[in-house]
Amino acid sequence: MKKKITFILCFIAAVIAVILAHNYITGRPSQSISYSEFKKLLKKKNVERVIVYKERIEGELTCDGIKSLSMMRGIQTDHKSIGKIQKKHTFTTNRVEDPRLVEELDRLGVHYQSRTGHAWVMTVASWIAPASILIVAGFIFFRKMGYGSARSSPFVEKKSDVTFPDVAGLAVAEEELKEVIEFLRSPSRFQNLGARIPKGVLLVGPPGSGKTLLAQAVAGEADVPFFSITGSAFVEMFAGVGAARVRNLFAGAEKKAPCIIFIDEIDAVGKARGSSGISGAEEHEQTLTQLLTEMDGFNPQKGVIILAATNRPEILDQALLRPGRFDRHIVVDRPDLSGREQIFGIHARNVRLARDVDLKKLAASTPGMVGAEIANVVNEAALLAARRKKEAVEMSEFEEGIERVATGLEKTNKLINAREKEIVAYHETGHAVVSLSLPQADPVHKISIIPRGISALGYTVHLPTEDRYLLTKSELSDKIAVLLGGRASEEIIFGEVSTASQRDLEEATEIARSMVQTYGMSDKLGPLTFEKGRPLFLDTKYSPLKEYSEHTARQVDEEVHKIITEAYQRARGILIQRRPDLDRVARVLMEKEVLERSELGELLAKAS
Ligand code: ADP
Ligand code: MG
Ligand code: ZN
Repeated sequence: MKKKITFILCFIAAVIAVILAHNYITGRPSQSISYSEFKKLLKKKNVERVIVYKERIEGELTCDGIKSLSMMRGIQTDHKSIGKIQKKHTFTTNRVEDPRLVEELDRLGVHYQSRTGHAWVMTVASWIAPASILIVAGFIFFRKMGYGSARSSPFVEKKSDVTFPDVAGLAVAEEELKEVIEFLRSPSRFQNLGARIPKGVLLVGPPGSGKTLLAQAVAGEADVPFFSITGSAFVEMFAGVGAARVRNLFAGAEKKAPCIIFIDEIDAVGKARGSSGISGAEEHEQTLTQLLTEMDGFNPQKGVIILAATNRPEILDQALLRPGRFDRHIVVDRPDLSGREQIFGIHARNVRLARDVDLKKLAASTPGMVGAEIANVVNEAALLAARRKKEAVEMSEFEEGIERVATGLEKTNKLINAREKEIVAYHETGHAVVSLSLPQADPVHKISIIPRGISALGYTVHLPTEDRYLLTKSELSDKIAVLLGGRASEEIIFGEVSTASQRDLEEATEIARSMVQTYGMSDKLGPLTFEKGRPLFLDTKYSPLKEYSEHTARQVDEEVHKIITEAYQRARGILIQRRPDLDRVARVLMEKEVLERSELGELLAKAS
């Protein structure tokens, strides 16, 4: 709003300036006189100097000349116009064929010169010169104000009008961002305390879960400028303008501090170096290096926070995630049941709802959907109602809307259907029940059947009770039993297993193999280690050096097999014995989608 007013004022000032400049260039307004008047004045020696153009003559009159002119004209005009004439020294007259003019001018000693310019050239020049000066000045001004074409500045600055009430189901993420908002609101308070503020915050979550929305909400809540750029625009900008401009852009943002720089879809810049193809790899590396340099050069105390978003955190270059860069990670996950209900509420705010619309029911029939998809459902429903010329959007339209959005999603395999939901619920409950039956296992913190991340369907979070540096053999085998609990549960209930256990099996096998190979925990092979130089910090790409015979290798495999089978039987036994618990918890989980530790405890306590 303020900007608009400034803009209008500037425009008016510019117009006035152009007119003034025009008048300055054309000089004082001259009066036109007839050629005969000119000749008479010339003869009376009333003309001081003349400029002879091809088609006209311009000149200046002496003071006497002005009087003579008014006298000449006085006969036909009133006093008012005489007054007007008197003020003007300059005159213009159209040229008449007069070969002796020059002779006459010489004789009378009048200073004269000739110019070839046409009148219109002067007129055009008198407008163009000031106008072009203004355009240049205006351009500089606008650039300073942060406008400018998309090409020259891919940073989009805007004031965000999104706030937390526009975001639903992300309470945990919002809570984690509160500190950042507090800091942006009053940086000096933090500076005085010497508190360390995160420079970069990375929002991680599946597409459409509200990462961009959340970043805008942070700017809106803190009421600070929001500079946003997408990762791909960042790469493009770097290719186009090079490092210096990138630096300028960051410096420009720093001047607006406190503010937020938001790099959306940062994976386009932040892909691990060396992972991209051959073409453009170097450019990409330079861009990433430049971004890292900028981040390192930033003083967070100045009040600039860099937010970034990605749905593929696993491909980011490790250098981006180091302390001092994007060292704070916030998960923006798929919403749970109540989150979805709230999101339906937000997007239905401006939709006229029929009485039969039940947002809770809608939320219950959209497990796995993200905010963007829910927004889509509401929009589809409203369009359908409009097409049917209804007064308000009814439940039936919403149901159709869900169907439409869901069919779109089925292709990408994101929405879980009822059958899958049941399988996942029993699988996760299996983990939880086994875990709670084994005193040595890490207690269950939370179970959920909402798909998380990209691959896993449901998940169970185990929290170790204390930091552990040593694990005993029995603890390790309990861990394996818990991991296999998901598969055991599926087998008991459905008589067959699904692909849901893939990660569990990987992890269980890895533990079992380490027990045999690394920690000498197998009775058959004895206290031997078959591995050397295992790195201190586990690297995903680490593959142990094999220093044993084929025979030993077979024995290792057999032992691993034995450990796994035993653990699986143990898990199965527990679940068969506690079948009623398994059923009850799974049913509640299907309904609520997420169970916290305390709820789980209550459910299991009821049974005994
Ligand atoms: P992302 O950046 O994670 O891909 P967006 O923030 O661009 O997702 O979300 C797209 C749109 O979906 C938003 O503009 C908003 O209308 C809707 N949306 C997504 N998540 C939420 C949410 N948690 N609450 C409300 N609306 C949401
Ligand atoms: Mg986005
Ligand atoms: Zn599992």
